[in-house]
Amino acid sequence: MVRAAGDRPYLASALYSLTVVPSDGVPTMGVDRHWRCYVSPSFVAASSVPELAGEWIHEVAHLLRNYHGRADLLPTADRRDQARLNVAQDCEMNDDLLADRLELPEGRAAPGDFGLETGRLFEEYLPHLPPSAQCFDCGSGAHGAPGDWEILGPGGQGGVSTVEAEALRRHTAEAMRAQRNRGSLRGGWQRWAEQLLEPAVDWRRVLAGAVREAVALAAGGVDYTFHRPSRRTAALRGVVLPSLRRPLPVVAIVIDTSGSMGEDDLATALAEVTGVLQEVGVRGEPDHRARLRRRRAHRGAGDVRAAGRAQRRRRHRHAGRHPGGPNAPVS
Ligand SMILES: [Zn+2]
Repeated sequence: MVRAAGDRPYLASALYSLTVVPSDGVPTMGVDRHWRCYVSPSFVAASSVPELAGEWIHEVAHLLRNYHGRADLLPTADRRDQARLNVAQDCEMNDDLLADRLELPEGRAAPGDFGLETGRLFEEYLPHLPPSAQCFDCGSGAHGAPGDWEILGPGGQGGVSTVEAEALRRHTAEAMRAQRNRGSLRGGWQRWAEQLLEPAVDWRRVLAGAVREAVALAAGGVDYTFHRPSRRTAALRGVVLPSLRRPLPVVAIVIDTSGSMGEDDLATALAEVTGVLQEVGVRGEPDHRARLRRRRAHRGAGDVRAAGRAQRRRRHRHAGRHPGGPNAPVS
C-alpha cells in the first residue's frame, strides 16, 4: 500500500482510509461498502510488490468510483448477475490502470478480452459481455452483494461512513485535478474527477434509478405490525400476533419547466417518465388521470406541472379487496 500511495500520491488519502482485514475466504482482495479491504494472505505471499500496488489501487478505485452505488441503480436482473457486473466494472477501471503502467495480477479483466473498446463506463460494457464472463470477486464494494468472507454492516472492525466516503472522493478528485495540471494523470481518472467536481447529470439515468429504487423498496416493504393484530389472534388466548403490512406507494412526479423548456422538451420529459414507469411494471397515468396544468405566467415562459398517482396493477386489485387504502394490512 505504501508503494501504491507513494507512486500515486493523489490516491494516498483513499488508500490509507481502507481498513485491512486478513481473510482466507477472499480469492485475492475485495472491498465492502464500508471501505474494509479483505486481503488473502496467500495471495499477498505469492504476489510481487508492483502487482500488490496495482491491486490496492484497483480495489480502492471500486470505492472511489462508487461502483456499488451505481450498481444499486441498475435493473434487478443486472444487479443479480454479480459476476458479469464485476467484470464490467473491472473493464472500466483496468484499461485506465494498465494505461497508467500499473501491474495487475494475471486474470484481471480488460475490455480487449471481450473485443470491446476502451474508455467506456461499466454500464455500457455490461450488455456486451457474454453470460460466461468471470473474474475475481471484488466484493460488495464493487457489485453490491456481500461475499461469505465479509463482515456484515457498518459496525465491527473499521469502516468509513457514507458521508466520509463522499468527502474522500471529493478530496481525491481535487488532488487529481492538481495532478492533471502537472500533466501526469490518465484520461479515465481525469474524466472521473471532472464529473465529480463539476457533474453533468444524465437526468434520464437518475430518474430511472430513483423510480427503480422506490419500487424495489415498496415491493420489499412487507413487514409485521402490531397496529392491527392478526385475525388469528382471536384463536390464541393471551397472545397478540402481528399482521403483515405492505405499504402502497403513491408516485408523484413533478416536471417543473422554466422558460428554456419548450413543447418538445415537455413531450420528451413525459415520454421518459411513462417509459420508466412501464419498465418497472408501474402503470403511469399521465394520459387520463394525471393533472397537467400549464400556467403561462408571462409570454414565452411556462410552468408545467404533471402529477400522477400510479400504483402497481396488482396493488390496485389488492386495494380493492382492502378498502383501508395505503398501508392496509394484507393478512
Ligand atoms: Zn475489481
